[in-house]
Amino acid sequence: MHEELQDKCGIVGIHCDDSSVDVSRFVYFCLYALQHRGQESAGIATFSNDNGLNYYCGMGLITDVFKDYEINNLNGNMGIGHVRYSTTGKSKLENSQPFVTDFDDGFIAMAHNGDIVNSQFLRDELIEQGYEFKSDTDSEVICYLLKQEHYDNGKNILDSIEAVSKKIVGSYALSILVNGKLYAVRDPAGMKPLCIGEKDGNFIVASETVALDVINAKLIRDVKPGEVIYFENNEINSHMLEITNSCDLAHCMFEYVYFARPDSKIDDILVYETRLNIGKELYKLYPIDADFVIPVPDSSIPAAIGYSRESGVPYGEGLIKNRYVGRTFIMPTQEERELAVRLKLNPIKDAIKGKKIVLIDDSIVRGTTSKSLIELVKEAEPAEIHFLVGCPPVISPCYYGVAMATKKELIAANYSTEEIRQQLDIDSLGYITLESLVKAIGMPKEDLCLGCLNGCYPTDLPDNIEAETYYKP
Ligand code: AMP
Repeated sequence: MHEELQDKCGIVGIHCDDSSVDVSRFVYFCLYALQHRGQESAGIATFSNDNGLNYYCGMGLITDVFKDYEINNLNGNMGIGHVRYSTTGKSKLENSQPFVTDFDDGFIAMAHNGDIVNSQFLRDELIEQGYEFKSDTDSEVICYLLKQEHYDNGKNILDSIEAVSKKIVGSYALSILVNGKLYAVRDPAGMKPLCIGEKDGNFIVASETVALDVINAKLIRDVKPGEVIYFENNEINSHMLEITNSCDLAHCMFEYVYFARPDSKIDDILVYETRLNIGKELYKLYPIDADFVIPVPDSSIPAAIGYSRESGVPYGEGLIKNRYVGRTFIMPTQEERELAVRLKLNPIKDAIKGKKIVLIDDSIVRGTTSKSLIELVKEAEPAEIHFLVGCPPVISPCYYGVAMATKKELIAANYSTEEIRQQLDIDSLGYITLESLVKAIGMPKEDLCLGCLNGCYPTDLPDNIEAETYYKP
């Protein structure tokens, strides 16, 4: 059984050669910029020769976890940080990261974004060899595998990472503090994003470029799929994992569709641009002569602007989002989940009443959000609702960290578009096509992971693998 948590998280790492500099506050600000990638827990680990290793993790948002006191205790010239994404259950402090393990003369601290699909097998092997696990995470599995190669088998860190990369299958972006050095690793298919920046001669690695922007660091480039980066004498050193030669690229399309911030650039593509293009492509597929095109805020705003620019249909803000509602509490009942949508979104009734509207959302996964959303919009009495979706039908689970849902829960895996339209009781429903989405992203189709859209996964999967579901008010 696949029991580990899915990790659609945010990671950061900062390397500074000058031991008098404290990077902890910079790590904090980078994590702040990556908060959208995970709200369940946050953590920072720092190191300096004088202070050794210090780390602190807690449940909740970065501002809940870190006050001045915690940050002041994290003095170091190297640091890594992590924000964890929320999935159903298993929300506990032991699973927060960075994960730290020590050995006689050292330690490994690691922040991981991704999901190792064969981690249960690897975990069982490690347990047989005497390793005791503190958490449910596959990040702990990677950490112990590294420790085994480095400490038990006496390999240097690069050779240890090389050896571990041959055992783990799945998605991973890692920032690792070990032996007073920072390493960053991106999986051979480049499923998870990871970029490198520079500020005043110091280096930063982060899941998204917005983390660099916030501390005014300059983007140097993305970490290449299958690349290990480490820093020495103010220089970036690169090592390509051997396993990369046998892997095809598989960048996650959902980063562009929903997950990443629009102001981030991933693999040289501005996410905002992709979302604008999604709106334009939606108009080409569904040219509707409407009074307004309205986004479901915030993720669909660029797509609605794109639709409006391409069509001349006026862009309208018909739904207002309460920005203070986070994803911080679990809604066990359907009634509560519906209330959560109302807490988060409120229609401007007078603007919608009697109008023919195109409503754009980034994706439909389980369909529960759309149902509550459409009910809400209907209360404003529009003349017609045409619902357009910036992601093709999600028909297969994601096993690489997006924690979309199990097949049973995925509405498009169980009903046709016409059946979903009837369930929503709207005038029309249109999904972007796979071809149009690929065009909107602007990357060759074969370089993208489209597993949740076509069931073709970029790696082998264990037979008994199970998908996880996210929760979201
Ligand atoms: P639903 O169809 O009820 O599952 O909700 C779909 C909406 O949730 C989408 O419009 C996205 O805004 C958001 N969403 C989709 N996938 C995820 C995910 N894996 N984690 C968090 N939010 C998601």
